[in-house]
Amino acid sequence: MLGFDLHLKPNTYFMNLTDRDRRHLWHPYTQEKIAPPPIGIVRGRGVWLYTEDGQKILDAISSWWVNIHGHAHPFLNQALARQANELEHTMFAGFTHKPAVELAEKLVAILPKGLTRVFYSDNGSTAVEVALKMVYQFWQNRGEQRKTFVALEHAYHGDTFGAMSASDKSAFTKPFVPLLFDILRAGNIENTDQIFQENSKQIAAVILEPMLQGAGGMIVREKQFLLDIRKLCNQYNVLLIADEVLTGFGRTGKMFACQHAEISPDIICLSKALTAGYLPLGATVATEEIYEAFLSDDRMKTFFHGHSFTANPLSCAVASASLELFERENCLEKVAFINRKFNERLPQLSNLDCVSDVRIIGAVGAVEIVSDDGYFADIGQTLYQEFLSRNILLRPLGNVLYFMPPYVIQEKEIDWVLDEITEVLENINRRFSRK
Ligand SMILES: *Cc1c(COP(=O)(O)O)cnc(C)c1O
Repeated sequence: MLGFDLHLKPNTYFMNLTDRDRRHLWHPYTQEKIAPPPIGIVRGRGVWLYTEDGQKILDAISSWWVNIHGHAHPFLNQALARQANELEHTMFAGFTHKPAVELAEKLVAILPKGLTRVFYSDNGSTAVEVALKMVYQFWQNRGEQRKTFVALEHAYHGDTFGAMSASDKSAFTKPFVPLLFDILRAGNIENTDQIFQENSKQIAAVILEPMLQGAGGMIVREKQFLLDIRKLCNQYNVLLIADEVLTGFGRTGKMFACQHAEISPDIICLSKALTAGYLPLGATVATEEIYEAFLSDDRMKTFFHGHSFTANPLSCAVASASLELFERENCLEKVAFINRKFNERLPQLSNLDCVSDVRIIGAVGAVEIVSDDGYFADIGQTLYQEFLSRNILLRPLGNVLYFMPPYVIQEKEIDWVLDEITEVLENINRRFSRK
């Protein structure tokens, strides 16, 4: 006997998911006291999510930026089921398996040149932690005292401690500031140059989100900046970490955002769309030079890092299948199509008084709304609710509304979402102009 009742209590049977959720769950980035109740999702197909109440919602932000081929894709489902029948998981220290090997081979073949050593972990934050620890120990293994990281203003690299340290200060990190390690914060290239000059022998690496700073507000960067940073890193013998957790796998119009500037970082961090939004998986891919600094008869030079689910076979199998689908379905062309639609329709929104900026890159279209301390400070929440009532999931970052759909979205669906965005913003603008 288990000593507890596995069967649902009779009253539970009649409760909906939302109410059962409210009794025991705690949600990410959610003020549970004032947030509206979570919506029960029972099914996903393509760009659509289906609620337990029978509502059909278009997933216009790719379920927090992870989905690219749509929900419950038959080809990915099949790859997952096949792998589950073969091997669901095994530890990765001392063992290996086909899904991990195949995925590494495929990644190395498409990544910027020189990135050849794949270290798996669980998510975007761990991919960043691994990169930071790898770099920090790399210099020690080489006998150099380079212990400082440079990161950018508006950066976001994840929610674990190293990743939070690298991220710019925000409401997300505020309670933890005393626990974070010091970072040299750069805004532009002149500023970075100066930081390099003043700390040339202490800097271990620069970490940045190439071309697009996501959570910092969908800020699009010039490719010249990336080129200049690569040059500075070469000049000062500093490593470059590209956090492509968001930008990887076509999101900015190239397979990897570094390819806009045709540069190779020394380390790249991948997650999110790596598994097409199916399962958690992170990959930190380094150069042979970095890998070789850990090869030694001295066991203390080992990279002592790993997670229980490192290289999970189910995650790796789906990631491999996603890359196959990516090529077969010409995903980069789909992204180019989405980009053209965004460029046709979004820039004209700048004519509205309530819109302060429009930014577009690849399959990301962002509209920044003028915000003040009054009513419009809550504009993000207002927009979220308004779009949900129109059957669209758009969840603004503060006052930045962005459209980032799975690549499988159809033209008529893009048009419909753009029509709705236009109408909602025109309504807001009427109220805004009257103030
Ligand atoms: C989302 C994100 C992360 C963190 O990934 P998680 O899987 O949420 O931990 C790190 N870096 C960037 C650029 C991201 O967008």
